Amino acid sequence: MLQMLKVVMANLTSKPSTRLYPYTVREPFERARGKIIFNDKNCVYCSLCAKKCPASAIKVDRATKTWTLDAYRCIICGECVNSCPKKSITMSNERRKPTQQKIYECYTKEVPPTP
Ligand code: SF4
Ligand code: SF4
Repeated sequence: MLQMLKVVMANLTSKPSTRLYPYTVREPFERARGKIIFNDKNCVYCSLCAKKCPASAIKVDRATKTWTLDAYRCIICGECVNSCPKKSITMSNERRKPTQQKIYECYTKEVPPTP
């Protein structure tokens, strides 16, 4: 009985071991795999990322300089990040927010008009 009372008192006076999710959200770990981030600055539209993607989540159109990610098809493997020769793709440690709609992230590079 005394032993149990000690445990009860310890539980009452100590901080809880769990978080009050979703009110208390844990920061993502530094090296956690989160969402894919594309930067068109150096991209040469070589399609290597699309060819390497095991989930076929990336589409690249060289003619229109368009790079598209089917965000909810992505399995966050990081293969596109490793395969891009221009380092145009990085991975954030933040998770993508849940949604009820399919999201395509589409980037088309502005080509300056020829004089
Ligand atoms: S591999 Fe890199 S440079 Fe090539 S299309 Fe993909 S993002 Fe662009
Ligand atoms: S992380 Fe993997 S699944 Fe997601 S887009 Fe890149 S290669 Fe495809």
